Amino acid sequence: MLYWDYAAAAPPYDEVVQTLEQVMRQHYANPSSLHRAGTEADKLIKRAREVCAAALDVQPKEIMFTSGATESNNLAVKGAALQYQSRGRHIITTELEHPSVYESCLQLQQLGWEITFVPPDSSGVVDPSRIAAAVRPDTVLVSVMHVNNEIGTVQPLQEIGRQVKAVNRRTLFHVDGVQGYGKLETRLKEWQADLYSLSAHKIRGPRGTGILYVREGVTLFPLLTGGSQEMGNRAGTENVPNIVAAAKAVRMSGERRQEFSTRITPFKKRLEDYISGIPELVLNSRGDGAPHIVHFSYPGMKGEVMARRLEELGMAVATRSACSSRLAEPSRVLLSMGRDRAAALGGIRISLGDSHTKQDVEQLEQALFAAVQSLKIAEGGVK
Ligand code: PLP
Repeated sequence: MLYWDYAAAAPPYDEVVQTLEQVMRQHYANPSSLHRAGTEADKLIKRAREVCAAALDVQPKEIMFTSGATESNNLAVKGAALQYQSRGRHIITTELEHPSVYESCLQLQQLGWEITFVPPDSSGVVDPSRIAAAVRPDTVLVSVMHVNNEIGTVQPLQEIGRQVKAVNRRTLFHVDGVQGYGKLETRLKEWQADLYSLSAHKIRGPRGTGILYVREGVTLFPLLTGGSQEMGNRAGTENVPNIVAAAKAVRMSGERRQEFSTRITPFKKRLEDYISGIPELVLNSRGDGAPHIVHFSYPGMKGEVMARRLEELGMAVATRSACSSRLAEPSRVLLSMGRDRAAALGGIRISLGDSHTKQDVEQLEQALFAAVQSLKIAEGGVK
């Protein structure tokens, strides 16, 4: 089976697995304990914070560890909304966001916040001026993802940051960087990002650990209360092995970004050209999108049916993002781009990783061709 679902979860680096085992065995003490074993575990967290800070070109005290990007995004959105409600209760986000941002905003809406959901254009990119036009004196937060997890489009963060801050300097800018880190350059200062989320398991780290950059001077209303871990922002005993291994993945995938992108971009282009040549398929990803995501629809054919046929042919692909793939509803992202319901139900995401070779890509092309041919013949029966 060839694995084409790196955007859902990427296999951990060998070094990550070794680190996990080593830290789990040797540094099991609670980092809050005052004895030496505890302070050693605490030092490991401190070092991991420094490693992540160096990779993101920020200060160690601006790095927080969480249980994943879902938590990082929840904390960024709800933590900022609750903390700064005296400034206002208006938030701007996009219709492209991951459910962890989107649903957080919907939850706030139920509680009385006003949310502006800005749609993308037909190619899945948000116009910065549409975001800036929505900024008001009471806008406390703008949340925009770097790379869309379904179709891989890259959002113009620098321009969004610049225009938002020009209208309201106090509006915080949160970036969900999960699908961009390690694939594209991360420039938090140039984007004027105040908050930035990452997930370790998307960058070959362990699952169950996330990172949240919180710019110095920004405070968040904690969602988990109890102990004073993570500078009082997140209570709970730290997952030391995961934190150390996550920092390793952040460093390694950051260092390998250029090499990864150079190697993988021709594969993406080749697959996109191939898919464009199959009349039944509609390409949804763009040539200038993130190097690891290719997305297409087979309008009229459910994504699950196509995915199952590809699996029978030895290819593991996704119907959309992993967390929504069990939903029978059409993709919100594709609908927001103006695609019809048939196309939005028939999406397939192929996500590339370091292990892929030219031969793998050739095999995938053959499988795509065979899947479409066989589904065409069976059409009607399987829709
Ligand atoms: N944001 C984006 C863009 C994602 O793709 C994902 C995972 O699919 C998340 C957030 C959530 O990350 P995690 O799985 O670490 O909770």
